[in-house]
Amino acid sequence: MLEKTLKAIEPFTSKAEKNSRFCIGCGEPATKLVKYSTEGAIIVEKYCDRCAKAIEDGSAN
Ligand SMILES: [Zn+2]
Repeated sequence: MLEKTLKAIEPFTSKAEKNSRFCIGCGEPATKLVKYSTEGAIIVEKYCDRCAKAIEDGSAN
């Protein structure tokens, strides 16, 4: 599996984004774009506030 590094967590910027997906962590409506960098690519995953916060906290150490 590719190693991925947390790059940024950003709020959705448009209404269309808000309506487009559910959090892949818990299934709630997603509100945040979580960006990871891997070798040569950026991966964007969608999460709700709570899961995005958990990821942010988990990456701090
Ligand atoms: Zn979630």
